[in-house]
Amino acid sequence: MTCIFCGIADGSVKSQLIYEDDHVVAFKDLNPQAPTHLLLIPRKHIARLSEADEQDTALLGHILLVAKKLAQQFDLKDFRLVTNNGKGAGQSVDHLHFHLMAGRRFLWPAG
Ligand code: 5GP
Ligand code: ZN
Repeated sequence: MTCIFCGIADGSVKSQLIYEDDHVVAFKDLNPQAPTHLLLIPRKHIARLSEADEQDTALLGHILLVAKKLAQQFDLKDFRLVTNNGKGAGQSVDHLHFHLMAGRRFLWPAG
């Protein structure tokens, strides 16, 4: 299996990381949809949120707190944090990721 986001997380695919720790990596989206558009991923390969399980409880909570820290670091007051789960919801990369987006108005409900 080749997974582009596993490659970014393990350094085999070059990417400028915005944040990294033992469990989570964040980097800029290649095709940004907002002035600030980061992707937060677990180093562990989980294809999508629906494939996470109880063992991932701490990891998932940690990702949310990293999102909060990055929002603080980038001085984002209003931001949107999104995960697309499955093709029909817009998921194009099968490695769990959260989009952290800011810098423009967001519509609700999301399109
Ligand atoms: P999804 O559509 O799965 O929710 O989001 C995948 C995101 O990953 C898209 O916004 C896309 O622009 C981004 N992306 C896909 N491949 C790469 C890559 O190789 N590097 C980076 N930085 N972003 C990528
Ligand atoms: Zn992966």
